[in-house]
Amino acid sequence: MNTQWLEFIDQIKAHYQKDFVPLHEPTFTGKELEYVTDCIQTGWVSSVGAYVTRFEEDLAQFAGVKRAVAVMNGTAALHIAMKVAGVQANEEVFMPALTFVATANAASYIGAVPHFVDVSEKTLGLDPQKLEAHILDIGDVKNNQLINKETGRVIRAVVPMHTFGHAVELEELQSICEKYHLVLVEDAAESLGTYYKGKHTGGFGKVSAISFNGNKIITTGGGGAILTDDEELASYAKHITTTAKIPHRWEYEHDEVAFNYRLPNINAALGCAQLEKMPEFIKRKRALTAFYEELVGSLEGVTLFKEPANTSSNYWLQTLILDDTLERDEVLTFLNNNGVMSRPIWTPMHDLKPFRECPRANLSTIESLNKKIINIPSTPIKEG
Ligand SMILES: *Cc1c(COP(=O)(O)O)cnc(C)c1O
Repeated sequence: MNTQWLEFIDQIKAHYQKDFVPLHEPTFTGKELEYVTDCIQTGWVSSVGAYVTRFEEDLAQFAGVKRAVAVMNGTAALHIAMKVAGVQANEEVFMPALTFVATANAASYIGAVPHFVDVSEKTLGLDPQKLEAHILDIGDVKNNQLINKETGRVIRAVVPMHTFGHAVELEELQSICEKYHLVLVEDAAESLGTYYKGKHTGGFGKVSAISFNGNKIITTGGGGAILTDDEELASYAKHITTTAKIPHRWEYEHDEVAFNYRLPNINAALGCAQLEKMPEFIKRKRALTAFYEELVGSLEGVTLFKEPANTSSNYWLQTLILDDTLERDEVLTFLNNNGVMSRPIWTPMHDLKPFRECPRANLSTIESLNKKIINIPSTPIKEG
């Protein structure tokens, strides 16, 4: 690796004023301490409390949806989102081969089968054209249901994921869903603060899921939420994430086998404070992109991944695409050895042991991009 790369590293460390720059750190510059202290002082730290309701309301408003249901992590949110969207055991769910394992796990919790589709180079998310070509190849519409001719199973849903905060082509996916009787469920875990044609991501699917894990754009420690415009689905999601208990002052009556997935009040308190900072975080994440754009300009063989047309990205994780002149692992070793944390993309789902046998489409794009993408430090740029 040459002096251009050393300069790149020096500039990043100088900006963050650190000898070791992590990939993504939470930023607590708002009322986090005040709200969390309030929980401790009042004793309302656990499963019920005013911050949960407030967080759900604030989040729904921010994301431009009617309802948000807070849960304990993004994986739980995806599980319930798919379940209330109607995904059932022995059905298939289209999802990108490039995602965090939670998307495939959540489908599996229901007993459904992930069906992997390729990503687009424009978005790094589910490719609508390749999806439709694949449906025409293996699908058959019968009685208003899409059947996989090869497995005989119903294909129920499409679960796109907005990779590193970049929105996928949602309108194209919506029309594929209408045409082939599929339900759209967005894995919006990474895309709080990302817009497609001016509308917030997570508002296009029948149901969507967000994550507030420690490395996400805002954090509740651990947490997640289900978003929907459907009041009935939202109420059902709330019901089955809170043990399906019939409200009563002292009786414990539950009307189905359900989940204890609720978000504790103390985590919601953190979330309320973080959410207040979202406009500033987005500004500073996007300013970081401008900072990197200038730095990357002098690195040969590297492009900074930019938001797709018609979208506004939260730039959750900054992304470099390496050309064939660069060896990915050499770049990763060099950056990590020199105090700039960077990492490859996730192992594609179809290469993971639990999902190797799952049905899949042609995955040529992810196969070729796989060894060319890395993420670099993405904590919001310093203020001022
Ligand atoms: C973070 C993430 C999730 C959910 O993660 P949790 O750690 O369970 O909150 C789901 N899908 C994707 C794509 C993610 O990045």
